[in-house]
Amino acid sequence: MKASRAFVAALLAMGLLAAACSNGDDAAPAATGEGATTAGSPTSATPTTTETSDSTPEQTLDVPDPSLDELPTDDLPSGVPGESPDAEIAVTTSLPPGSTSSVPVAPEFVTPATGGDPPTAVLAPVSPDLKIRYIVSPHPDDEFEAWSMVAGDTTHYIVFILLTRGEYSQYCDGSGISELQGDRAERFPEPQPFTGQGTEGCSQQRLDAWRQFLDTRGGVESAIGRPGFLGQFDLDVPLSGALPSRVDVTGERVPSTQYLLWVGDKSARFAFDFGDRDLSINEVLVGVEAVRALRTRVLPIAEEDDLVASAYFNDEFDPSIRYEHPDHKVVQAVIRDLDFGMPGPQWGRTVPEDPEVAATLEVPPALYCAVMCVEPEPIDPLANPFAFRTGTLQETYGWLAPTYWVGAELPSGSIFSRVQPYWRRF
Ligand SMILES: [Zn+2]
Repeated sequence: MKASRAFVAALLAMGLLAAACSNGDDAAPAATGEGATTAGSPTSATPTTTETSDSTPEQTLDVPDPSLDELPTDDLPSGVPGESPDAEIAVTTSLPPGSTSSVPVAPEFVTPATGGDPPTAVLAPVSPDLKIRYIVSPHPDDEFEAWSMVAGDTTHYIVFILLTRGEYSQYCDGSGISELQGDRAERFPEPQPFTGQGTEGCSQQRLDAWRQFLDTRGGVESAIGRPGFLGQFDLDVPLSGALPSRVDVTGERVPSTQYLLWVGDKSARFAFDFGDRDLSINEVLVGVEAVRALRTRVLPIAEEDDLVASAYFNDEFDPSIRYEHPDHKVVQAVIRDLDFGMPGPQWGRTVPEDPEVAATLEVPPALYCAVMCVEPEPIDPLANPFAFRTGTLQETYGWLAPTYWVGAELPSGSIFSRVQPYWRRF
């Protein structure tokens, strides 16, 4: 066994140091100098913790590395220009049927929790031989970038870890889903109406789309099933580390230490809210380590296997699509460079041209089509913009693309490619 706890504690301290030494953007009100922890910042907060002490110390709010600000922060490239096609085409009379579950849903909690600690394990695993695979994503929709690590997997208990809500999508103004596209089976995220980039409504809509995507896939992919929603709980943040934070709609940096939890017999989901375009090294660590610490209490399976960075990133290789979102870079960097002491390896999504490719997995063609296809084919938003969005990703995340998402075999054609290469560390 590796001394991962001590190692992570040291890293957390390093993260705090880095945050305290940074002299980043003036708009970030906390942790911009050595006095930040004692300057009485209005954004300082008391962490939720089970530890006791005579005086409660104030914790620094976490801020990302200022160098990440230099990276572009656009939404995922859908592969088409940001304009809706001119309307008019024959109207199809029958919508494709939605996915229906043949898998029993985990016990529902009549009244989901709204704080405190999560309950102890609420159900038995589908098999005691499963081992945990963590799928770590920066935003709702990134999970499909590593779906080849999920699809048809009957050996792992899949734990989806979502680190932010993706609330800075430009499509939270509703521009990615015209009424016409709704008619073509693109689903409007809840709640409606759209309230715009950076709003609480945007946060909820992206989370709703993520839940819907996973629920729909879980209804037809028996490897993950549909976990039950337990509610919202408080994160137990180490006193030695900076407090996870995000920037709210007023521009103020606020603590963000609650998470949503779903638990099932084959998979679970943890949804943090560490701030879109605001994710730090420390927050990735805090999120992953919190889930690992909670697993023995809330999950039906405690034995771990491996960890996957489901965060497409490419800033150097052709012809694969370039994508340099800073949150993706941070997730990649943490899982690539820091040894979490897992029994199995740490994986990260990359592109075929990366010399570090250690494994190339594929989403089975039929499953890929169930997620990405349109009717009629081909999956070509430019030449075939009015097709029905039959695939789960097209249906649930279509509102995040001007028309719908390009599907392709390789990352040269689509970030959501069927063939998915990975680097491997540790
Ligand atoms: Zn993303």
